[in-house]
Amino acid sequence: MKCRRCKKPAVIKLPRHNTAYCGFCFQFYVYEQVRRALSEHKMLQKKEPVLVAVSGGKDSLALWDILTKLGYHAVGLHLNLGIGSYSETSQSKVEAFARTRNLELITHAYQEAYGLGIVEIARETARPACSACGTMKRYHFNRIAREKGFAVVATGHNLDDEASRLLGNVLQWQESYLQKQSPALAAEDGKWARKVRPLYRLTEREIAAYTVISRIDYIIEECPMSKGAKMFLYKEMLNQLEETSPGTKHQFYLGYLQKKEQIFSPQEKDKQCCKVCGQPTRGTICSYCRLMERVAT
Ligand code: SF4
Ligand code: ZN
Repeated sequence: MKCRRCKKPAVIKLPRHNTAYCGFCFQFYVYEQVRRALSEHKMLQKKEPVLVAVSGGKDSLALWDILTKLGYHAVGLHLNLGIGSYSETSQSKVEAFARTRNLELITHAYQEAYGLGIVEIARETARPACSACGTMKRYHFNRIAREKGFAVVATGHNLDDEASRLLGNVLQWQESYLQKQSPALAAEDGKWARKVRPLYRLTEREIAAYTVISRIDYIIEECPMSKGAKMFLYKEMLNQLEETSPGTKHQFYLGYLQKKEQIFSPQEKDKQCCKVCGQPTRGTICSYCRLMERVAT
């Protein structure tokens, strides 16, 4: 099979686009998909610095690499969750990536800040680990972005992540989550940083191929807390559908984004600020401060 752009031998087939590319042209395809995501959702201004949340996995490191190559001032933010050797390896992959490319990196370790890792925080607060982790991440992305002067935080969610999350939200009819699901979330009341997901047009397989071609070294191991997560089941089901009908994930998620405005009336904005930390919240105290109250008691 030949590359669609340059007619050299192809190294990757993309059944959903009924095409194939050589390594060089595939990288070009990836940059084009990210450029398109950035411009269609007005995610970033060209000169605007962006904080990239980097876990050490393939998606976030690929995102950091791509944004840098597209000319953005992208600074990495790594949260060390304190999950034993998994967190140590994750941080060392991120640090090596930043060092070899001479990129700026901010790190924040829960163990240093709280004397506890995410597993212990979840145990102390009687919350499932991933639920406590989500609350902690949202809070820290926001706080660190604000403290360091970033108006926008980018995360490495890909098309598989977004389509499987959409499937989960539909299966449980989570209306408020459905309404919120978007590749670009505006800053609320000028307090939250904007959140953007520039990889939402690319599948997990495409990003994995990009990291190989671009020689990005990442942590292959999944977070040990992710075992048994429903998201994996949804991803597997979507992969099976994609296998028989290439383009299913794209149609499902991008089709939803097109129809969303017709399905939902405009969302009400959060009006209140948390009485403890000042961040926007629907109640009087935000979920992070409620979590911390339970850690303290
Ligand atoms: Fe956090 Fe759960 Fe993801 Fe691990 S799997 S990083 S605990 S959300
Ligand atoms: Zn080519």
